[in-house]
Amino acid sequence: MIPFNRPPFVGKETDYIKEAIAAGKICGDGAFTKKCNKWIEEKTGTPKALLTTSCTHALEMAALLADIKVGDEVIMPSYTFVSTADAFVQRGATIVFVDVRPDTMNIDENLIEAAITPKTKAVVPVHYAGVSCEMDTINAIAKKHGLWVVEDAAQGVMASYKGKALGTIGDFGCYSFHETKNYSMGEGGALLIGREDRIEQAEIIREKGTDRSRFFRGQVDKYTWVDYGSSYLPSDMNAAYLYAQLEEAETINNARLSVWNRYYNGLKTLADAGKIALPVIPEGCVHNAHMFYIKAADLAQRTALIASLKENGVGSAFHYIPLHSAPAGIKFGRFHGEDKYTTAESEKLLRLPMYYGLTDEEVEKVISSVLEFYKTV
Ligand SMILES: *Cc1c(COP(=O)(O)O)cnc(C)c1O
Repeated sequence: MIPFNRPPFVGKETDYIKEAIAAGKICGDGAFTKKCNKWIEEKTGTPKALLTTSCTHALEMAALLADIKVGDEVIMPSYTFVSTADAFVQRGATIVFVDVRPDTMNIDENLIEAAITPKTKAVVPVHYAGVSCEMDTINAIAKKHGLWVVEDAAQGVMASYKGKALGTIGDFGCYSFHETKNYSMGEGGALLIGREDRIEQAEIIREKGTDRSRFFRGQVDKYTWVDYGSSYLPSDMNAAYLYAQLEEAETINNARLSVWNRYYNGLKTLADAGKIALPVIPEGCVHNAHMFYIKAADLAQRTALIASLKENGVGSAFHYIPLHSAPAGIKFGRFHGEDKYTTAESEKLLRLPMYYGLTDEEVEKVISSVLEFYKTV
């Protein structure tokens, strides 16, 4: 059986966790957390990166930092994970969903402006599959209307747009290090803070509303409760696991890209014959092979393909029931404009096995299983 996903493991994770334990510092902001923050800052150029307990929590921090209040509106795609919306719903915002582009499954940048009202406070581009949204257009619209830009870059670590790392293009960027992502600490994430005037507030929110970070830097002689906040910092043991992988980020990235290219070339004949659609990487985007998906003709064909792959011992997965059609999405949001692509395209999309350690032989087996299925279609 070739599973759909395996959590990444490079080898040094166990040693680093032991090191964290030996250091007697297993709570947050120990040596490994600092190393991870520094790695992200150096790799992406963000003024400040803070490791968090999840991308969901990084998004919640961004919603707090953007001062989202009851009645505010936040624009995002409906084709995304629930946390993108829920972080803002928790602050009392109404979510305004707009359609995606069928080529990248990213928010259609040309539909954003029409969805803006006097209540709009933020736009949340989601870089699906580690392929960037059209950020120049999105930033220009946000600037014109005074909106915050929060990038859901959960899938975007090591990917870029016109030379800029995903997560560093808007005001805030949110990374995920969940076990299904390219680099992992089990559960975890990071907040990238592009706005230098919000760094201190971010540290306070992450540390239960206290100025503990300032205290550790020796800037105050005791720490105290200064504002609202929560506990968004992960254990240093989890950071130790992650750091082992960040050190090997190039190796992991190259291995994933090689799998992606093998899939792409192996399935191109089907795309050329008009039987399936393959992912599109727009110019200026460098992706990170977070996932490899194909699009079947329709839902019935996708369902049959999943069953056929399973019979051949190949795991596959689809995702995202569009949020605007989910119970909470109906309660907390509305779809602006026509749902031309979100629902229809999401029903066709199928993700093939993609993880660090997937062998060429396994990839070839997946490809031949897909080709086999389409001989009968
Ligand atoms: C994985 C993911 C999240 C949530 O990440 P967690 O670290 O599990 O909280 C949010 N948004 C998108 C687009 C994701 O893929």
